[in-house]
Amino acid sequence: NETLALIIIFHFSQEGAGGLWDSVKKGAVVIGSGILFLAAFGNSLTWHLQRFWGASGDFWQTLWTKVYLAFEGHDAALFFVGTMLAPTLVFWVLNAFLLLVDTTGKPSFITRYRIQEDKNTPVDPVKLKQAVKTVLFNQVFISGPMVVVVYLLVSWTGDPCGPELPTFHRGLIELAIFSILEEVLFYYSHRLFHHPSLYKHFHKQHHEWTAPIGVVSIYAHPLEHVISNMLPVVIGPVIMGSHITTTSVWYCLALVSTTISHCGYHLPFLPSPEFHDFHHLRFNQCYGVFGVLDRLHGTDAKFRQTKQYERHTLLTSLTPLTQSIPETPKKCQ
Ligand SMILES: [Zn+2]
Ligand SMILES: [Zn+2]
Repeated sequence: NETLALIIIFHFSQEGAGGLWDSVKKGAVVIGSGILFLAAFGNSLTWHLQRFWGASGDFWQTLWTKVYLAFEGHDAALFFVGTMLAPTLVFWVLNAFLLLVDTTGKPSFITRYRIQEDKNTPVDPVKLKQAVKTVLFNQVFISGPMVVVVYLLVSWTGDPCGPELPTFHRGLIELAIFSILEEVLFYYSHRLFHHPSLYKHFHKQHHEWTAPIGVVSIYAHPLEHVISNMLPVVIGPVIMGSHITTTSVWYCLALVSTTISHCGYHLPFLPSPEFHDFHHLRFNQCYGVFGVLDRLHGTDAKFRQTKQYERHTLLTSLTPLTQSIPETPKKCQ
């Protein structure tokens, strides 16, 4: 079997199938250095994290106890507030701000970071109204019922609303597992929705926006919202039997991250939205969340030859990347 695997790998390296062999080598180097780093500094890293958590842990536990007692054992209500109302509120507070920027074109401090510079200035009000309507529909009639189903599943296998908070480590490990599950499930389901026979019926709607804005993150056909948006995110906490606080934090993170991916502005000190923005621009590139599977399958090959790819980093200065890495080679001014 090992020989067979070697032959297959050799075959791929000969074929150069999307640079798979290159990916495997790079992956091995990254994982190898990761293991070496953890072996060397793992103990002191754990110690520092534990100390940080020890100092603030009491604060969070006290806060949780107050919330827990306030609900007097009404676990279903507590679950609904934590995993539906709170994440939805976070989503709308962030998107209300972004919508204000998109519709007014102000403040220029934000709009100067626009990725597709000539687009959405200002955003089409008819298209926007349609998007907001669909988003509200998906949240009320899809996300709401799905959260109830998740509650039934999780409370069947465990106690998601227990009085004691999970440890810092437990929370961190669970978030890492959730992220891996999301990357895998989102990548493949998303690619499936790009199959011509499915695309025209379902996913085309989400791609009406070639220059996306924040709310467009959950502007999708209901079936796509269930399979591609909700399932990859809710599956982790169900499998892990997570505490409601971990689940709530995860849902909020997922909504904030997808909003940033779609917002159309590459802002300083925030995760780069270039990857998914490019997916909306070019359709057949960059299907995943983190890009790991795109690298492996070569579905980022064209992206990696673009200016957008050069700009796909954490912006740590106030100069917009469209200025520091302009479209055409910089001329002497
Ligand atoms: Zn999208
Ligand atoms: Zn797509």
